[in-house]
Amino acid sequence: MSTREFELIARIRARVALRDDVVLGIGDDAALLQVPAGQQLVVAMDTLNAGVHFPEDTAPADIGWKALAVNLSDLAAMGAQPAWCTLSLSMPEADTAFVDGFLDGFLALASQHDVALVGGDTTRGPLSICVTVHGFVEAGTALRRDAARIGDDIWVSGTLGDAAGGLQQWRERTVKGGQSGLSLANGHSDPLLRARLDRPTPRIVLGRALQSIAHACIDVSDGQLADLGHLCKASGVGAQVNIDALPASEALCAAFDQQVRQRLQATGGDDYELCFTVAPDARAAVDAVAREMELELTRIGVIIATPGVATRTAEGAWSAPAAGWVHFG
Ligand code: ADP
Ligand code: MG
Repeated sequence: MSTREFELIARIRARVALRDDVVLGIGDDAALLQVPAGQQLVVAMDTLNAGVHFPEDTAPADIGWKALAVNLSDLAAMGAQPAWCTLSLSMPEADTAFVDGFLDGFLALASQHDVALVGGDTTRGPLSICVTVHGFVEAGTALRRDAARIGDDIWVSGTLGDAAGGLQQWRERTVKGGQSGLSLANGHSDPLLRARLDRPTPRIVLGRALQSIAHACIDVSDGQLADLGHLCKASGVGAQVNIDALPASEALCAAFDQQVRQRLQATGGDDYELCFTVAPDARAAVDAVAREMELELTRIGVIIATPGVATRTAEGAWSAPAAGWVHFG
């Protein structure tokens, strides 16, 4: 490893906040971490590749935020309390300005959730970021995908489709700008939607609160219907979803007509909301969590015995219209 890479690691180490349960952090061959008695360790890993998982023009601080956020979202879906993370950073060259900006976003989110960066790897290559997060649950209490029961209500947090809407606007601007020579300023990109794409909010507090209420849970990263489908498959059940009930932000409603909006809500990726199932007699408990957290929680359907995810609107059966855009990457 070159001096430049050692310098980068020293820069990272200088900014990292520690926790009492980090016996040994960055600097040795491996980290030494103390798992509390009676807790299970919950581990998740996600990689972000430039041009695949974020637009190439994404600010370094936003890349840093998102790299950690998508991982914390997986812990949230398990009902876990985050503790530690590791960071594998692959970059074309040892770029200190990039790393400084990246850490601004990464460490801002880490400090919000008291997550310590305890190690990692720094290599040369195309821009790619791989993060592993570690958290705890009281033994046997994790929220899993495979525990939905027939008759459960299906709920989702926040609003759906915002990030996909932001990505679609970005694509329209860059594709049109590139093909027709229009200036980028001709396209409109809603800053609220773009912020939902660049800085997703991992629903950690919600996941913790749902632990004693929900049966099954998954985070929505690949699209509401797709991820609900994974949950159903794991649980050996099916779902009936009311597309009219999918929650939408004002920004999304203002930016797209109903047909496009519903497609974005139902199938767009990068929401990082939680989709969970709860017995109907516990509706009041979910509503109480929503009020306490000041976070919208919406009932969008029910768990049924028939496998698959059936979708309908007030007008009848609904299926996702074909996406009318050039695919990313
Ligand atoms: P080794 O050669 O023993 O694998 P490295 O030189 O790769 O060690 O790393 C030295 C120390 O710096 C280790 O503690 C490692 O975890 C840490 N480290 C390396 N890269 C990063 C990074 N991107 N973020 C956080 N810690 C890192
Ligand atoms: Mg190494």
